[in-house]
Amino acid sequence: MSKNDITTNTIATTDVLNRYLFNDMHVRGELVQLSKSYQSIIKNHNYPLGVRLLLGELMVATCLLSATLKFEGEITVQLQGDGPIGYMSVNGDHNQKIRGIAKLKPDQAQTTANSLNELIGKGTMVITIRPEKGEAYQGVVALEEETLAECLVHYFEVSEQIPTKIWLFSDDDKQQVAGSLVQLLPDGDGSNENLTQQKSDFEHISQLTNTIKADEVFSLEAQALLYRLYHQEKVSLFEPQTVSYQCGCSHDKCLVAISQVESTEIESILAEQSKISMTCDYCLTTYDFYYDDLKSFISKHKH
Ligand SMILES: [Zn+2]
Repeated sequence: MSKNDITTNTIATTDVLNRYLFNDMHVRGELVQLSKSYQSIIKNHNYPLGVRLLLGELMVATCLLSATLKFEGEITVQLQGDGPIGYMSVNGDHNQKIRGIAKLKPDQAQTTANSLNELIGKGTMVITIRPEKGEAYQGVVALEEETLAECLVHYFEVSEQIPTKIWLFSDDDKQQVAGSLVQLLPDGDGSNENLTQQKSDFEHISQLTNTIKADEVFSLEAQALLYRLYHQEKVSLFEPQTVSYQCGCSHDKCLVAISQVESTEIESILAEQSKISMTCDYCLTTYDFYYDDLKSFISKHKH
């Protein structure tokens, strides 16, 4: 990696995803650093500390995973179990628009749990991938490792059979989250000799990446950090991608949901409350619908 890469590619410190390939190796890498988008996701929810940190890790993990997809579409990573958190879910797409939510069990709003095992309990990780063109598919793995990063590595082992390493960082004081991924890209050759070399390259890059420290990942710009880690390697950087928080809920999408409700029920709620209110679980925006908004499908149902 040359110093030139740094000066020609200066970008904001945070809310950015960088992807890169190690030249002459079958190894790729990703680095994601988030602040504003993370703050938007936790804002207004009053999540306990452990939940905020884990949600940040899940958000970073979802960015890293979505960037490994070879097509346009979206990915949802959900953790669910019998612990204080009923479920936690983050949803992102190829444009790095991301949103997320944690639903605590009713009597657990003040939980002091902070490890993955304490927060989720006995549970699973469900990864749902929805290509814009083609069928959705889902991978499910038991959460049997101690950290979310290790669970994701396990997911890649069992469901994709791709050697992968993942590092996740979450800092509540700085309100920043970050992470990195290193992945082997086996070529079509398949000869054992090549594979041995590729695995040793992968281990080499993993060891370099393993020297990332939390204070660096939260304070250095991506190019400075990548130079620090890989200055002895030849690295090709892709154009950095901005990560942004976007809920995706809307007045129109709520209307579609209401249109599925029986017209008699709509009428009875309107008679009682003069409006129908819907609040988005993710961003807590409330949408109100009055008789005039709803009369078209009340009368439509009557005909
Ligand atoms: Zn929303």
